[in-house]
Amino acid sequence: MSVPLVKGWCPGAYRPMASGDGLVLRLRPPMGELTPAQTLALADLAERHGNGTLDLTNRANLQIRGVAEADHAALIAELAASGLVPPDSHAEGPGIILSPFAPPDDDRRQRQIAQALSKALQAAEFAALPAKFGLVLDPGPLRHMDGISGDLRIESADDTLILRADGCNRGCRVASPAEAVEQALRMMRWFLTRGGVDAQGRGRMARHIAAGHLPPPDLRGDLLPNPAAPAPLPGARPDGFCLAAPFGQLTPDDLRYLARLGAPYLRITPWRMIFLPGLRHLPERAQASGLIADPGDPLLRVDACPGAPSCPQATVQTRPLARRLAGIIPPGSSLHVSGCAKGCARQSAADLTLIGRDGRFDLLRHGTVRDTPETRSIAPDAVPDLMNR
Ligand code: SF4
Repeated sequence: MSVPLVKGWCPGAYRPMASGDGLVLRLRPPMGELTPAQTLALADLAERHGNGTLDLTNRANLQIRGVAEADHAALIAELAASGLVPPDSHAEGPGIILSPFAPPDDDRRQRQIAQALSKALQAAEFAALPAKFGLVLDPGPLRHMDGISGDLRIESADDTLILRADGCNRGCRVASPAEAVEQALRMMRWFLTRGGVDAQGRGRMARHIAAGHLPPPDLRGDLLPNPAAPAPLPGARPDGFCLAAPFGQLTPDDLRYLARLGAPYLRITPWRMIFLPGLRHLPERAQASGLIADPGDPLLRVDACPGAPSCPQATVQTRPLARRLAGIIPPGSSLHVSGCAKGCARQSAADLTLIGRDGRFDLLRHGTVRDTPETRSIAPDAVPDLMNR
């Protein structure tokens, strides 16, 4: 039986991950957005140095796939020249995800916070933060980032900014963006010095708190964050337009198409969608794009990781099967096709989960890849018939 490799670090651009189709470079665009010029530059670089496939991740990152080791240094230099990666590896600190839908005043505040935090986190004292440690900025009357993984969250309670540790229901009041940064840094120091990171360099805030470690009283607070907004869907919004990438996969032509739609910038979201602020509708030629604008598209019901041959852990192809099955998944239901038991594409429960193992699939209902399958070792060709029964 194949056993998934669990790595304790997240790949970045300077520290790429080896995959079945070459190196994977993960980019965190500054402020989570790309200008049209950066988008066009990225499309060309992915085509020239990669295999023409990019991923949108559920941490609002972009990944260039299929880069040859010999091309890595040249690609980094060109990405840095376009402002797509920081000029040196030390600036690739913990991930900070901004809300793509924050109203203008809150957007200004979250940008101030993100800029100051990015700078402060380059200090040596924060180098020991686990690679998966992340911050979620979600100020405003509604929380859009509920369910997006993060260890520290900066949100609003009514009009007041609050800092909330993941794993706590309530947060503490912070009077200004500057105080939010100061208190967030204090919380990270507390996490680092009070056993939040294990000997392997791993650790998450919610796990630390669940183990009985409570932050100092003045960082706990008693303010409930504002209510959560419903999960966003592709299509028109009052503030712009969202387009989803099937399985989070983009091509260079998708990027070129997005760059030319007329939005001032593209916001990378953690829902495998690109948000185009200010765009009210798509031109007719949108129909030619492989991107999803219809909130009822069956592909939105399916999650599937790259599978074989892109991932060396996989013994099965995933996305071709996921496309075949999408049409028979009823609206409101979900399917997860995973290349192995690691479940990269989806951690939450799905109505149906298929897990690749030794060239075949195990199937379970209403659970995750960590649950016990009810049917084992199904040949890939037999899966559609089984599901139609
Ligand atoms: S879940 Fe998919 S992408 Fe993740 S390790 Fe397994 S096969 Fe690879």
